[in-house]
Amino acid sequence: MSRIEIVPGHENLVERACSFLESEGSDFSESIVVFPGKRPAHFLRRAIALRTGRSAIPPRVLAMDGFVEFIYRSLLKREDTELHPLDAIAILYDLHVRMQKKLGGESFRTLDAFLSLGSKLFGAAEELCITLVAPRDAAGALTASPMKNGEAIADFYAAFYPLLREQRFTTRALCYADVAENIRAASFDEVRRVVLAGFYALSRAEQRIFRHLAGLDQSVLLFQDGPGLNKHLQGIGIPYEPSPPGSRRQQISLFTAADTHGEVLTLNTRVKELQDAGQTLKENAVIVVPSADALFPLVHWTLAMLPRDSYNISLSYPGTRTPVFGFLHSLLELLASMEEGKVYAPDYIKFVLHPYTKSIRCGARTDVTRILFHQIEQKLAGERSLTFFFLEELENSAEVFSRVAEATRATEEALSPDRLREHLIRIHDRTIRNLLSLKSIGDAARKIMDVLLFVSEETTADRHDLFRPFILPVLEECSAITTSRIASRTLSGLPQYSSFFRNALQSVAVPFPGTPLHGLQVLGFLETRNLQFKRVFLLDANDDVLPGTAGVDVLLPQGIRAALGLPLQRDREDIAAYYFDLLLQGAEEVDIFFRSSGKKEKSRFIEKLLWRQQLESGDLKRTSPIRRADFSLKISNHRPEMLRKTDEVLHFLQDCTYSATALDSYLTCQLKFAFAHVMRLQEQEGVDEEIDRPSIGRFVHSVLARFDRQNVGCILDPVADRGEELEEVIDAEFERAYGKDPGGARFLLREQIRGQLKRFLASYRARVLASGPVRLLGVEAKMTVMKNGYTFKGIADRIEQRGDRIFILDFKTGHDASRLMVNTSSLVPGDPATWPEAIGSCQLPLYMLLYSEQEKVAVEKIFPAYIMLGKKTMDEDAECGLFDGGTASAASWAMIEQAIFEIVREINDPARPFEPAVDLKQTCPKCPYAGLCG
Ligand code: SF4
Repeated sequence: MSRIEIVPGHENLVERACSFLESEGSDFSESIVVFPGKRPAHFLRRAIALRTGRSAIPPRVLAMDGFVEFIYRSLLKREDTELHPLDAIAILYDLHVRMQKKLGGESFRTLDAFLSLGSKLFGAAEELCITLVAPRDAAGALTASPMKNGEAIADFYAAFYPLLREQRFTTRALCYADVAENIRAASFDEVRRVVLAGFYALSRAEQRIFRHLAGLDQSVLLFQDGPGLNKHLQGIGIPYEPSPPGSRRQQISLFTAADTHGEVLTLNTRVKELQDAGQTLKENAVIVVPSADALFPLVHWTLAMLPRDSYNISLSYPGTRTPVFGFLHSLLELLASMEEGKVYAPDYIKFVLHPYTKSIRCGARTDVTRILFHQIEQKLAGERSLTFFFLEELENSAEVFSRVAEATRATEEALSPDRLREHLIRIHDRTIRNLLSLKSIGDAARKIMDVLLFVSEETTADRHDLFRPFILPVLEECSAITTSRIASRTLSGLPQYSSFFRNALQSVAVPFPGTPLHGLQVLGFLETRNLQFKRVFLLDANDDVLPGTAGVDVLLPQGIRAALGLPLQRDREDIAAYYFDLLLQGAEEVDIFFRSSGKKEKSRFIEKLLWRQQLESGDLKRTSPIRRADFSLKISNHRPEMLRKTDEVLHFLQDCTYSATALDSYLTCQLKFAFAHVMRLQEQEGVDEEIDRPSIGRFVHSVLARFDRQNVGCILDPVADRGEELEEVIDAEFERAYGKDPGGARFLLREQIRGQLKRFLASYRARVLASGPVRLLGVEAKMTVMKNGYTFKGIADRIEQRGDRIFILDFKTGHDASRLMVNTSSLVPGDPATWPEAIGSCQLPLYMLLYSEQEKVAVEKIFPAYIMLGKKTMDEDAECGLFDGGTASAASWAMIEQAIFEIVREINDPARPFEPAVDLKQTCPKCPYAGLCG
């Protein structure tokens, strides 16, 4: 008779399994040990070595999947081919095409449209199959449900597996189902001992296999006692007898932090405390990482404190979070957004600025590609009409290559424009062009592998420790696709190929196999199954991670799952609760970390733990204290250094022509003025789909100038209907600025601007023209004047004569003019401290000065005003005069004019260095030179 034992949760299951092994001397090869996962195998081998005290031939140690495969292939002698999941989808698609009543009607007509549904269908079919649900029962439950597509799902299930059998394929679930069905035919005579250890929730196929094995003399079934085991033993007809409770008390400490980084920093402190106390964390200590979020902070902070060979990471990390996936994703996005052979500039820039693309070597040099792509970025940012462009347009851009050639001239090996052009063409050929014409899915997979090998061979990416572990699983998946049945299928276009590979690579996992049994262990939550650690650090113990939130299963909702005996969400929660309990039962000291910000709740398992502590102590207020780890991050920037004026700078300032922008910049921050107007450092514009505020302003100004330029000198016609003319100007200017067919956000923006300018024409402008004759004196009128030894310049958006009054108008795209005004009551021209507060902008005051000097017009005749185009209703109040009553009083103007000259005098004062802004907190965050200032 077999031996069945319920091992107490605090006992070491691996050692218990070891004690049942039979051997010929030190030869254990006639025994088989099966655990739910792979990891206990390492610990079992070590336990055998300790038991025998010498080297031994180990037993066959298998995870459940491997054991089922062993029975299938070795004992039942089956030779069917294992089906790749993508091939399964292809077979399901063929079934879908042939079906009369199609799932989703005509929505999934093509293979690419069907892919995501196919993947879900395959998952659902595998669950039904491993649960040994007969097609008839599935049909009964699915058709009786109110689900619209229940019948179609049942049809798929009924047809799919017979077809696989016919074609001599198998899948994981089918393998389990066949083994369960034929287990009596499998002979275990050659096996002296079969130990099945540490199982908890079993599928129906597993239950059937267990029931049979429980009847074999050589079987040992070991279960570890924990919450819910009773129910699962009932499923296989084994009576439950609770094991004696352990006497060990765990020392449990709880920590909470605002985010993952806070958790990891707290863990750091704990590890440091132990190190300071002379303790070394060895293989009996584990850091459990239940979600991938914490892995990299952990690697960079906590593990970085430890010697490199003193820890072992064994878990699998989602491939989608790696830079390799990021690189492929940007390339696939670029391909998907192409139109008529042209690439979309923002996607092109994202791809070429990916660290892998930027680091493609040019000969032996690693800097050239970076310089080249930044130059291209500048070109595309400057020429916004190149929203979509042919790669050849860049390859023929002589100006880009000569600029980059110029930049390389100062280096050891100057490169010619021709050499650089050749380099760019090669990069395009090996990456983007390589994928432009795809014959089939297999062809695309081969070409993606070519691109990745190119990156591996020709960039500096492989200098990164993790590059190889990151790239290998992607290459393996692509290689599997090239040999799969789906390889010969074709998709309808580049966007479909892109979406196919983005989906196909989603499931790639990067294994961190580590060196088992050596040093501190870093494991995923399920990797801790059946193992015991004296010291446990458990990260991310939040309810959305442990046990995790329920996903929505659209094909097999909870009601149907319950009817068919499939696992429910609460079963998944029970499994997590069971392993959480075992992890704690086996430990002596446990530190649990969780987040407590936003909607994050601590895991229900911690709540239970606290509740249990209260019950045991008989005091509902008594539990383990939760220590809050609040890290106050003190970001203290040093005050930027002032800049002294050299003789060269003073000469420059003396000869400088001062614009309103320069004076405003000086009032905001003198350093900013120096960077922008003395050193002429310019902010790099990005190649974004979004159009920033300054670009919108430039565009609106160009439309309004073009609209009225031919009317300069004329009296404007108050009754002329010029709506159509305005539309044409908007379209022409938009095309000039952003290209012929703007898509997405640009299209929407154009329409918004069109609406607002039509309101401007119909409301504000119509009212102004109706109120009396208006002569247009200028649009974008340039003015330059020298006075008191300083030269000033300005461009007035619009100058109008209304009666004998001169209106100098400046368009603004905002709606609030208050921040642009001048407050003469708080202005003391000789006191620089009053300038920034009192002078909102020097713009209109300077234009008044320029116009009155240039045209010899008295300032009291000049009416300066801003036209706020961002106002909701474009009526008269869109025009905001600088002065109450329209003109400046003589006293006010005298103060303003004096202030303008005081400002330029101070700028030219050798004794006054350029100072940083007075209020750094307020000014610096919006400043483009913040990086320079530090
Ligand atoms: S970062 Fe601040 S101090 Fe530096 S230039 Fe800009 S505004 Fe001035």
